[in-house]
Amino acid sequence: MTNAADFRDLTTLRVGGAIADFREPSTRGELIDTFREVSSSRQPWFLLGGGSNIVVSDEPFSATVIRVATRGIDRFDDGDRVLVTAQAGESWDALVSWTVENGLAGLEALSGIPGTVGGAPIQNIGAYGVELSDTVESLQFLPAGETEVVTLRSDALSFGYRRSSLQTGLTGLVISVTFALTPATESAPIRFDQLARALDVPLGSSVALAEVRRSVLELRASKGMVVSDDPDSVSVGSFFTNPVVPASIARALPPGAPRFPLEPQRSETVVPLGVTPEFPNFDAAPGDVKLSAAWLIENSGIPKGFALSGSNAAISSKHTLAIINRGGATADEVLELARYITIRVHDAFGVMLEPEPTMIGFD
Ligand SMILES: Cc1cc2nc3c(=O)[nH]c(=O)nc-3n(C[C@H](O)[C@H](O)[C@H](O)COP(=O)(O)OP(=O)(O)OC[C@H]3O[C@@H](n4cnc5c(N)ncnc54)[C@H](O)[C@@H]3O)c2cc1C
Repeated sequence: MTNAADFRDLTTLRVGGAIADFREPSTRGELIDTFREVSSSRQPWFLLGGGSNIVVSDEPFSATVIRVATRGIDRFDDGDRVLVTAQAGESWDALVSWTVENGLAGLEALSGIPGTVGGAPIQNIGAYGVELSDTVESLQFLPAGETEVVTLRSDALSFGYRRSSLQTGLTGLVISVTFALTPATESAPIRFDQLARALDVPLGSSVALAEVRRSVLELRASKGMVVSDDPDSVSVGSFFTNPVVPASIARALPPGAPRFPLEPQRSETVVPLGVTPEFPNFDAAPGDVKLSAAWLIENSGIPKGFALSGSNAAISSKHTLAIINRGGATADEVLELARYITIRVHDAFGVMLEPEPTMIGFD
C-alpha cells in the first residue's frame, strides 16, 4: 500500500517533514517483498521502526519510507535456556513485558525503552548496566538489494557501546531478533548502582523479575525516559552518548568529573568491591575512560530546562541528556540547541560530544 504520511506523527521527538511514499507492511512476507522491491530499485529508501532514535529534517522527504509493522513472539525451549524470537515490528517493551510474565530472565532491566524489536540492535540498546548484546543469539536479516534472507549470529554484529555493524556497513532489513534467555523467577544480577539502591539490595543481587521491571519503569518515568503524556518525554531519550576518551584527557578534567576506566575487552569487565559501576565497560582501547555526558553539560553551565531564546526545543527539566520538543519545535531548533551544547562542552572541557540518534535528511 502506498500512502502519504508525516515524520512529525511517526517520531517520538515529533519533528520531521512530509513523506510522499509511505509503506507499512504488517506481515513477514509483505515486509520481505516490500523491502526486496524497494531496495533493489534505484530509489532511495528508509526503514522506520518506532521513530524513537531519529531526528528528521522538516523538509519534504523524497525517499520511500517502510515502516516495519510486523508482530509476533515465539518461544523455543532449548535445554537450560529458552530461545525467544520476536518480529521486528513488535514493540520492544511489549517483548520485555512478555518475557517477565513468562518467567524468562535477561531483558528485564531494559524495560521501558521505546521503539521496536528491529530498531533495538541497530545501536545495541542499553540501560541500567545491561545491553541488548548480552542476550542476542541471532538476527534474521535481508541485505539491501539481495533476495536471500540470512541468519546473522551475534558475534558477526560487532556490538559495542551504542553501536553495531548494522550502523556501519551491514545495510539491510532486520526481520526478527532471537534472544537466549534463562528460565527463572529472579532477574540477572543487578549491575547498576542506582537500580540496586532503588530496589534496596546490594549490587550483584537477583530480585523478582517483576520487581526489577517495576523499579526500572519507575526510575525511567522519574527522568522522563518513558514515552508518556509527560512533556519531558517528547525526545529521542539521551541526545548524546557518554564520551570515551584516552586517560590523558580524562586526567585533565576537574576533580569532580566522573570517570569510569574501561577494560579493553568486554569479557574482562570486573567490578571491584566497593566501586560503583555506572556504565558497562565495553570496547575500549587500553587506558580509555568513559565520561558522563550529563556531568559535562551541566558543568559547562547548561542546566536542566535550558532553552535558547525564542526556541521551542529545550533540555528536559528531568534529565540533562534529553533534548525535548516543548511543542511546535522545528528540527533546526533541535539541532541548533544540540550544536550549542556541543560547543559549550568543547569550550569548557575540550571534549567533543557525539549525538546518539541518527540524523536523517540534513545536509
Ligand atoms: C524517552 C526515550 C528513552 C530512551 N531510552 C533509551 C535507553 O535507555 N537506551 C537506549 O539504548 N536507547 C534509548 N532510547 C532510544 C531508542 O528508544 C532506541 O534506540 C530504540 O531501539 C530505537 O528503536 P526504533 O524502533 O524507535 O528505531 P527508529 O528510531 O525507528 O530507527 C532507528 C534506526 O534503526 C533503523 N531501523 C529501525 N528498524 C529497523 C529494522 N527493522 N531493520 C533495519 N533497520 C531498522 C532505522 O532505519 C534507523 O536508522 C530512548 C528513546 C526515547 C524516546
